[in-house]
Amino acid sequence: MKKVLSLVLALAMLLTMSSFAVAETGVFTGVGDSNIGGAGSIEVAVTVDENGAVTNVEVTKNGDTPGISDPAVEQIPALIVEMQSANVDAVSGATYTSDAIMAATLDAVTKAGLDAAAWSEKKEKVVVKGEDVELEADVVIVGAGGAGLAAAVQANQNGSSVIVLEKMGKVGGNTILAGGALNAVNDRSEQALAYNDSVEWHFTQTMNGGDNQGDPVLVHTLVSQAYEGVAWLMDLGMEFQDETTGLFTVTGGLWPRAHKPVMPLGQGFFATYMNYIDNHDNVDVMLNTKANELLVDDNGRVCGVVATGETGNTVTVKAGKGVIMATGGFAGSVELRSAFNTQWADLGATIKTTNHAGATGDGIKMMQKLGADFVQMGNIQLLPLGDPQTGSLAGNIEHDVETRIFVNKEGNRFVNEGGRRDDMTNALFAQTDATMWIVMDSDTYPTGDELNNFGETANQLVEAGRAFKADTLEELAALINVPADNLVAAVAEFNRHAEGGDLAGTPDEFGRTLYKTPIDNGPFYAAARVPTVHHTMGGVRINQYAQVINENGQIIPGLYAAGEVTGGIHGANRLGGNALTDTVVFGRIAGDSASQGK
Ligand code: ADP
Repeated sequence: MKKVLSLVLALAMLLTMSSFAVAETGVFTGVGDSNIGGAGSIEVAVTVDENGAVTNVEVTKNGDTPGISDPAVEQIPALIVEMQSANVDAVSGATYTSDAIMAATLDAVTKAGLDAAAWSEKKEKVVVKGEDVELEADVVIVGAGGAGLAAAVQANQNGSSVIVLEKMGKVGGNTILAGGALNAVNDRSEQALAYNDSVEWHFTQTMNGGDNQGDPVLVHTLVSQAYEGVAWLMDLGMEFQDETTGLFTVTGGLWPRAHKPVMPLGQGFFATYMNYIDNHDNVDVMLNTKANELLVDDNGRVCGVVATGETGNTVTVKAGKGVIMATGGFAGSVELRSAFNTQWADLGATIKTTNHAGATGDGIKMMQKLGADFVQMGNIQLLPLGDPQTGSLAGNIEHDVETRIFVNKEGNRFVNEGGRRDDMTNALFAQTDATMWIVMDSDTYPTGDELNNFGETANQLVEAGRAFKADTLEELAALINVPADNLVAAVAEFNRHAEGGDLAGTPDEFGRTLYKTPIDNGPFYAAARVPTVHHTMGGVRINQYAQVINENGQIIPGLYAAGEVTGGIHGANRLGGNALTDTVVFGRIAGDSASQGK
């Protein structure tokens, strides 16, 4: 009897102990909040084995912006499993999603009965430095954003071998975060006639929109080769929305000439470029490889790049024909943008940016050492369209200029929403808390499940508290806390100028001329936006062949540049939709020139 009792007692003790000390096995769900997608935007399924080890982490729900969050979703789960910690290094450029995946994992392992304190301890991966490497290609490109990859494909199409160095763990740069609008006019086509547009009008608007500071030769090159660029992309397999119905006016674009890719954000460009690169020989992208220095031969010709590789090793790439700098802008560097800024009162850290973490002006610094000339470095573009939490363009509900208005915290309109980006942002700075609401109706979102330009549905944004939806304007006003009378009056006045209104076709008190349908089809939507640093329009001086020019006005042999790192195209204010055009047109020109060793 005694024996049986002690056995029962021992068993009971063992059971009690195991429920405390040994984790349960199985799959556990955890939830994490991210600054981008809001509460509970990330959900993970965590598998725990009988030894209490986590063997798998899978992101089962991702409410963050696709494209931006992808690298975190791809890399963080594996790192968590490898390090057995929910506190690992975040993926640069996707830190909010990285943190949310870690928080969700901690939630899951806690539910599994694992030691939460141990799982919260920071664990850093020890990287063993690899061998130094020396490589060679005809054309070496620094930066795998829009301009860099357009150049890579073009140079390879011309028969050159190409190596692209990219410092981040992914391709895309800022280009992949763009709303996707690409200005291009197919001159004398049906669409151009229908929209009363021409290459010449695109030229005039680009020049005027930049206060005539742009170099007319470069601007002419941009607009006259823009449509050829679209055709080239389509030949490579990129899909755009139907031209007859799909051309639109992007904010600050001034005219409906933006082509819209079928894929959200700038993702279509990279799907296209990487499809080409993955399926062709002699064109490669090296990720996590940061260029530090340009090499110059005895004749003064740029002949290569020295970079730091993934493990901290030195990667030297010799260029037989030329080096293309496609490193993008510097809006991600508070230090540089504050130093160069001449247009704004303050571009310190309190103003957020739409840019990815890699937009730090490395190319500027590298070319400064070679005596390159720089133009209009003080011209920095802000947008009135930043997410109040992150500064990102994601979460923006607008589809085009014509269908939406901006109202301030008092519910009043305050600017021509079809105007220049600098004018709109300046006007926004003058409003209460420099905050505005974009207001529109259900013409764009008939059910709410349609996507914005960033791959998010209106309903998802509403659910995450990043947008508001109401059946009437009065209810919407209550939700966003603006005086209902003002909002209703603002919309009514706007509607008088929209299609079917008694003043249709005439500019309103702010000078707005771009209208379509009235805002009268409930439910109505609103989302808050703030000023955000977007594009650095100044940069290195190039000629129309994308050759870099030095301070004496001479070509630096073997050195080419394209995209945001260059200056002199956009002048004082860049037209919305011209940046992607710039990457395609001048990326291709740089690829062409370098492959010829021009
Ligand atoms: P653009 O629109 O001009 O192509 P992006 O911002 O799209 O500009 O792309 C620039 C790319 O260059 C980014 O992917 C960025 O990470 C990369 N880059 C910037 N500096 C370096 C560097 N020092 N070495 C390698 N890549 C770099």
